[in-house]
Amino acid sequence: MNVILLGPPGSGKGTQAQLLSKRLESPHISTGDILRRAVGTELGDHAAEYMNRGELVPDAILIEMIRDRLSQPDTACGFILDGYPRTIPQADALASILSGLDREIEIVINIEVPDTDLITRLSARRVCTCGATYHLTFNPPQEEGVCDRCGGALYHRDDDQEESIRNRLLVYKKQTQPLIDYYANLGVLATIDGRGGIEQIAEGIYEAVAAASAR
Ligand code: AMP
Repeated sequence: MNVILLGPPGSGKGTQAQLLSKRLESPHISTGDILRRAVGTELGDHAAEYMNRGELVPDAILIEMIRDRLSQPDTACGFILDGYPRTIPQADALASILSGLDREIEIVINIEVPDTDLITRLSARRVCTCGATYHLTFNPPQEEGVCDRCGGALYHRDDDQEESIRNRLLVYKKQTQPLIDYYANLGVLATIDGRGGIEQIAEGIYEAVAAASAR
């Protein structure tokens, strides 16, 4: 299945994408993770300037990045996109890249969470360079500051500070939210309530994906 997880920052996209990726045995492609791993390169340092302000990195950079990633053989039997597309031009570019590969997006999961919950979640989020994500209260690591999965040091993302969070939410509403109608019009959108337990939300997402795959 070719899946997109859509939702505001803090909606749990990354966590859910990881769980779904294990379940479907398909690669989890997070453009935010790819950009963060690129820090130290010219492209990564350029992108970090936008990321730290809570702004979107220019479309041209993201489109090339996703074209390159989707040309890799591990995506041939399906993929889970997390954080891409974030604008209509990115969605148009994705459709054209996939059509060149004789493929298409089969389902877009829209995870809905109220703004007040998003701000609380993001300010207490801690992450690891391996992609694991924790919440200081609801999903803490076993040892403070240490990743359960790889033993790496957890950190508070620069863009998870309050001013950046507010800007990211504004950017989401203006530039990314229009994708909800875009994919609804294509008949591939499923909306999931992102409040509640991680496992319960994961189940709802899996059921929506299974229903789409049976279509
Ligand atoms: P994320 O880890 O998905 O929250 O992404 C963190 C930051 O990376 C975003 O706030 C953007 O600055 C940048 N970013 C990630 N994906 C994209 C994208 N598809 N388009 C533009 N910027 C992106």
